[in-house]
Amino acid sequence: MSKVFDLFIIGGGINGAGLARDAAGRGLSVCLADKGEIGGATSSWSTKLIHGGLRYLENYEFKLVRDSLKEREIIYKIAKPISKPIPFIIPYVDKIRPAWLIKMGLFLYDNLGGKTIIPKSNTLDISKKLPNILKKKYKIGFQYFDVQIDDKKLTKLNIKSAKKYKAKVLEYNKVKKAEIDNNEWVIHLQKGEKIKSKILINASGPWINETLKKNIKIKSKNKIRLVKGSHIITKKLYKKDVAFTFQNTDKRIIFVIPYKKKFSLIGTTEVEVKSPENKEISKKEIQYLIRSVNNYLEKQISTKDIVDSYSGIRPLIEDFNQASKVTRDYIFDLNIIKKLPLLSIYGGKLTTYRKLAENVLLDLEKFLPKTKMGPWTHKKNLF
Ligand SMILES: Cc1cc2nc3c(=O)[nH]c(=O)nc-3n(C[C@H](O)[C@H](O)[C@H](O)COP(=O)(O)OP(=O)(O)OC[C@H]3O[C@@H](n4cnc5c(N)ncnc54)[C@H](O)[C@@H]3O)c2cc1C
Repeated sequence: MSKVFDLFIIGGGINGAGLARDAAGRGLSVCLADKGEIGGATSSWSTKLIHGGLRYLENYEFKLVRDSLKEREIIYKIAKPISKPIPFIIPYVDKIRPAWLIKMGLFLYDNLGGKTIIPKSNTLDISKKLPNILKKKYKIGFQYFDVQIDDKKLTKLNIKSAKKYKAKVLEYNKVKKAEIDNNEWVIHLQKGEKIKSKILINASGPWINETLKKNIKIKSKNKIRLVKGSHIITKKLYKKDVAFTFQNTDKRIIFVIPYKKKFSLIGTTEVEVKSPENKEISKKEIQYLIRSVNNYLEKQISTKDIVDSYSGIRPLIEDFNQASKVTRDYIFDLNIIKKLPLLSIYGGKLTTYRKLAENVLLDLEKFLPKTKMGPWTHKKNLF
C-alpha cells in the first residue's frame, strides 16, 4: 500500500517551506510540491526585509507590527549568515509627516517587540553624518534599523532543513488536481505521480484562488486583491552602508537599499493586476521610482542607470481599502471536505512565515497525530 502523508503542501514559497520544516521537525510526515523552483516566485521578488513594518503603524496595525518585530528578532538570530541589520534614514519633510508623528512611531517601533539586539532609533544631522548624498534642503534625518535578508536562500534553507527531517520535496512538479478518494486526499502531479495525504495545505501564494478553483475545484470564500510591486536595481548610488526611506507626497514610501555590495535596490510600486503570473515592470512604474529618488538624491538618476528590475505579486486580503492600506497580515481558511481538512493560507509577509507555520499546526492540532515535539523553530538555527 502506498504511503499516506500527514500533510501535503501545495507551494514551496516561504510559507510552504517554513511549514514543511516545522511539521517535519515535529515528526509529521510531509510532502511538498512546487510547480517551479523552490522560492522562485513571490519569495524571491520581495524587498528582502525582515521588518516590523514601520508604516503599518499609521494604519493602527499594532498587533501585526508587534508580532513582526518579535519575529524579526527570532529570524535574525536563526538565520544570521544571510541576514544583517541595516540603518534606514527617513529625511524629515514637514509637509508630509510632522516630526512628532515620526518620533512617536519610532518610539513604538523601538519598544513594541520587547527586548531586542537590533539597535534603537535616533535623530541625526544629515549634513554632518551623511554629507553629499541628499539635496541640501534635507537637514534632519530619523534613523531606525531593520534586517536585510536573502529571501530565496531563506526559503531554500527551510526546505533543506525539512528534507533533513525526511520531508519529501518535489520541484518543477505542478499539482494538477486534488480530490478525495476513499477517505484520503489524492494529489495528482504533473509528472504523473499520485500522492496520498490526510491534510491538504494550499500555500500557493498569489495563485491561491486559482489553485482552489482549477485544481481543487472549490469556490473561495475570500476575495484577494493582486497587487504588483516592482523594484529597480542600479549601480551603487552612494558609498555609505545605509538605506533610505523616502516619503512621497502620495504618502507612500520608497526604499533605497544597499544591495549585493555593488548595487542599490529601489522599490516598490503598487499596481493592481488581474493575473498572478508575474508581469514586467511598466514604464510608468520606472518613472515613479526614478521621480521618488530624484526628489531626494543630489545626484539625479535616469533609466540609463538601471541595470536590472523585478516585480512580484502581493496576494492581499480584500478589505476595500487603498492598496497601501490593505493589511499585510495573513488569515487561514479551513474547509472540511468529506471530513478531510483543506487549509488555505491568505496573505502574509516573509517576516511572519515562522509564526504562520506554528499557527497552522495549532489550528490543525485535532486532525494531526500526537507529536512529542511542540513549537521548536524559534530556537534552532537554520544553518
Ligand atoms: C514586491 C513585494 C515586496 C515584498 N517585500 C517584503 C519584505 O520586504 N518583507 C516581507 O516580510 N515581506 C515582503 N513581501 C511579502 C512576501 O514576499 C510574501 O508574503 C511571501 O513571499 C509569500 O510567500 P508564499 O509562500 O505565500 O508565496 P510564493 O513565494 O509565491 O510561493 C507560492 C508557490 O506556490 C507555487 N504554486 C502555485 N500554484 C501551484 C500548483 N498548482 N502546484 C504546485 N505549486 C504551485 C508557486 O510556484 C510558488 O513557488 C513582499 C511582497 C512583494 C510582492
